[in-house]
Amino acid sequence: MSGTSGTGRRAAIIGSGPAGFYAADCLLKAGLTVDLYERLPAPFGLVRYGVAPDHQTIKRVTAAFERTAKLPGFRLRGHVEVGRDLALEEIRRAYHAVVLAYGASSDRRLGVPGEDLRGSHAATAFVAWYNGHPEHADDRYDLDSERAVVVGVGNVALDVARVLVRPPIELAGTDIAESALAALRQSRIREVVLLGRRGPSEAAFDQGELADIVALPGVEVVVEGDVNFEVPDGAEPAVRKNVEYLATLPRVPSATAERRIRLRFLASPVELLAAGERVRALVYEENELVQSQGRSVARGTGRKHELATGLVVRSIGYQGLPLPGAPFDVKRGIVPNLLGRVLAPDATPVPGLYVTGWIRRGPTGLIGTNKACAKETVDQLLADLELLPAPTHDPAALDAVLAERGVNVIDYVGWHTIDSAETARGQAQGKVRDKFTRVEDMLAAAAKA
Ligand SMILES: Cc1cc2nc3c(=O)[nH]c(=O)nc-3n(C[C@H](O)[C@H](O)[C@H](O)COP(=O)(O)OP(=O)(O)OC[C@H]3O[C@@H](n4cnc5c(N)ncnc54)[C@H](O)[C@@H]3O)c2cc1C
Repeated sequence: MSGTSGTGRRAAIIGSGPAGFYAADCLLKAGLTVDLYERLPAPFGLVRYGVAPDHQTIKRVTAAFERTAKLPGFRLRGHVEVGRDLALEEIRRAYHAVVLAYGASSDRRLGVPGEDLRGSHAATAFVAWYNGHPEHADDRYDLDSERAVVVGVGNVALDVARVLVRPPIELAGTDIAESALAALRQSRIREVVLLGRRGPSEAAFDQGELADIVALPGVEVVVEGDVNFEVPDGAEPAVRKNVEYLATLPRVPSATAERRIRLRFLASPVELLAAGERVRALVYEENELVQSQGRSVARGTGRKHELATGLVVRSIGYQGLPLPGAPFDVKRGIVPNLLGRVLAPDATPVPGLYVTGWIRRGPTGLIGTNKACAKETVDQLLADLELLPAPTHDPAALDAVLAERGVNVIDYVGWHTIDSAETARGQAQGKVRDKFTRVEDMLAAAAKA
C-alpha cells in the first residue's frame, strides 16, 4: 500500500531511468514515500535500452537503483504510461509533488532530401533495436552493403559504429537482442564513415570511447581530410585530450584492415540518393569553420562528395517531447525550469511540479550527471515542502482507475520476476541475460510472481 512516511508527504516520479531513480533515492532518504511511474514493464530507461550491450560494466549501475527500490516507502508502478493510462493531472491530485523524469526519447532530423528512404534510420531506433526495446524489436536493418555512414561524432555515434564493426562473437555473451545479433552475424558492413559537421575540437565524444574502438582487434580507425589538430586556447581538458588523441591516429587507410572506421570532420550531409526506395549513397558537403558570436560555426564550401552506402544512421541528438499537462519549451525540447522547479509560461513555478534528467537539461550528460541534477531538483522540492498543496485524492484511487482501464501494473516484485526469467534464459545460452522484447511476454513472466 502506498501512504505517507516520515514527513507525511508523498511524491510521484514519472520515468524510471537514472534521473528518476536518483530522485527517488533523495526523496525516500528525506522521508517521503515515492511511487515511480514507468511506461514499460521494465525499469532503468536508457541504462537498459540505450547503453550499448558491450558496456555491461556501465549497466551495473542498476545495482544502486535496486538498493533504492528496497528503501521503505518505494513502489514501482511499471507499465503505466502517463499521458495515456493516467493523465498528469490525475497523478498531481494524488501526491504532494510530482517529479518529471521521462527523458528525451525522440530524435533530431537532418532535414535533407532522401532522409526517409529505406536504409536511413535514427540512432534512437537503431540502439533501441539492438537493445531489444519492445517498440523496435521487429525493426529490420539491411546490413548488406560494405559501408555504413553514421552522421554525428558523439558517444552514441561511436556506440553505433562500434556495434557495427565489432566481431559479433564478442557481442554474443551480452544482453544484445537475439534478432540484432543474428542480423549482425550476417552483416557485410566492413567500413563505417562518421561525419562530423565541425572539427576535432568540437566533437562531443569521450576520448576513452574512441580508444576502445581503436583497441578492437582487426579494426582500424582513420582520421581523414584536411583537419586542424590545434587545441584552441582555453580549451576544456576533455577537448584537449580528444584532439591530441585524434592527432595520433592514422590519416590514410591501410589496405589490410579487416574493418575500418573513417572519421571525416568538417562534413555535412546534404542529400541521400535512392536506388528505388532504398538509399544507395549519401552526398556530403565539405565545411569550413568561421567565427560567429564567439563560437566556431560550420559553413559549406560548395565542394560535394558522394559516399556509396546502403545504411545511414543519423546520430545528431535525442529530442525531448511534451507531456500533456506539463509546460514545454519547444525550441529547447525540455520542460522549462529553474533549478528543477517547473516554470509556467509566465515564468512562475508550478506548485508541486519538478523536473530532472534529460527532460530537464536536454539530452546530454552521462548517467552520473543525473545524480547531481536529481539532487538539485529534490533540494528545491524539500525547500518547498511546507508550502506544497495537500493532495485531494489517494494513490489507491489511482490504482482503482488503472484497474478499471485494464492496465496491468507491474510492481517491483513483478519486475524481479521478469528480471530472474531473463537472467535464467540468458544463462542457458551463455549470455548475461536474454531480454523479453515483447510487452506481452514481460507481462506473462511477471504474472508468475
Ligand atoms: C545510446 C545511448 C548510450 C548511452 N551510453 C551511456 C554510457 O555508456 N555511459 C553513461 O554514463 N551514459 C550513457 N548514456 C547517457 C545516459 O543513458 C543518460 O544520461 C540517462 O539515461 C538519462 O536519464 P533520464 O532518466 O533522464 O532518461 P531515460 O534514461 O531516458 O529514462 C526515462 C524513462 O522515462 C520513461 N518514460 C518516458 N515517457 C514516459 C511516460 N509518459 N510515462 C511513464 N514513463 C515514461 C522511459 O520509458 C524511460 O524509462 C547513453 C545514452 C544513450 C542515448
